[in-house]
Amino acid sequence: MKGIRSKGRDIVAVLALVLTLSGVILFAENLGTRNHYTKYTDAFFDTFDTVVTVVGYAKSREEFNAYFERIHSRFLELHKMFDIYNGYEGMNNLKTVNDNAGIAPVKVSKEIVDLILFSKQWYTATGGKTNIALGAMLRIWHDYRERGVDDPEHAELPPLEELAEAAKHSSIDNVIVDVHNNTVYLADKDMRLDVGAVAKGFATELVARELEAGGVTSVLMSAGGNIRAVGFPLDGNRRWWSVGIHDPRKPMFSTESNLLGVIHIGDGESVATSGGYQRYYLVNGKAYHHIIDPDTLMPANRYLSVTVRARGADVADFLSTTFFVLPYETGRELAKKLQGVDVVWVFPDGTVVSTPGIEQSIGIADGPDAKLR
Ligand code: AMP
Ligand code: MG
Repeated sequence: MKGIRSKGRDIVAVLALVLTLSGVILFAENLGTRNHYTKYTDAFFDTFDTVVTVVGYAKSREEFNAYFERIHSRFLELHKMFDIYNGYEGMNNLKTVNDNAGIAPVKVSKEIVDLILFSKQWYTATGGKTNIALGAMLRIWHDYRERGVDDPEHAELPPLEELAEAAKHSSIDNVIVDVHNNTVYLADKDMRLDVGAVAKGFATELVARELEAGGVTSVLMSAGGNIRAVGFPLDGNRRWWSVGIHDPRKPMFSTESNLLGVIHIGDGESVATSGGYQRYYLVNGKAYHHIIDPDTLMPANRYLSVTVRARGADVADFLSTTFFVLPYETGRELAKKLQGVDVVWVFPDGTVVSTPGIEQSIGIADGPDAKLR
């Protein structure tokens, strides 16, 4: 693994799972069974348009299966709540909220209220680049992208005037939450919510906390590249999990190393990656991806990918999208201000830069402005 500092046998790893659309690779250490715990792995593909992978140390397959099933059913519930495209019999979800823009407040679950409050709070704390109220504008990009993927010959860019018109309806102050009555009201009939930047991480964090409350002690979850550690691996060796970060210049599936580096995360910590290489379509041979800079209304093009390590999968997910849009200097300042947050930026020319806290694990030995290779 060129350019990456090995930490002895901790990284003498057998690559077990490559996660599609994730940018992140989980390692399964070749350490066998210790302390009567065995490592189990399973995955499901039917929530949040992505793969959710669970790695856990348990005393038996039955024990692992029991909490894996709990994770799966909880993700199914949260997926329905946070879905903006489909309605479900007998429940109000975010599509219901969107459909009632300018009409009426909608009674929703506590999870939806908390997701919206979280997103509003972090919008304010980070300068407003990740804005869940941009749904109307993001929907236009989404529809052009879907059509472009289905029919590449006729792929087109959305007209800027159309995007600009929709983006006028994105004031976060018009997202009105009543915490006493658990209602959400969009006070602009043309506004729509899009929680794609934060929903997966938020769901992952919620489920992780529920596992902790239920006494689960050793799990690593990944929802489309939003990784959250519960406890540490019960292999008798380590107090951290090893998470491989995909090199955005290399193919997702490869027999050769396609890693940028390995990040270690401990109990309660998370890693999230945002990248333009994950979801995109081609127009006249040029790729247009899914993370939109609210200032230009075009895909942000400063980096190939940005990876964030933070406490909480909700925070890491929100921040990876935010740092992906923010100019480097502004991002660096923000990372300094937000304590306990580490960032790895990969620039289009291949330059890799990280905050000091993560330099060692990502393998950048020569300081924050060094090239990895
Ligand atoms: P992520 O992969 O976590 O970086 O999130 C990307 C998703 O967030 C996109 O697919 C959109 O649904 C949504 N999104 C894109 N740009 C923005 C933005 N500037 N603010 C809020 N959400 C966004
Ligand atoms: Mg995100």
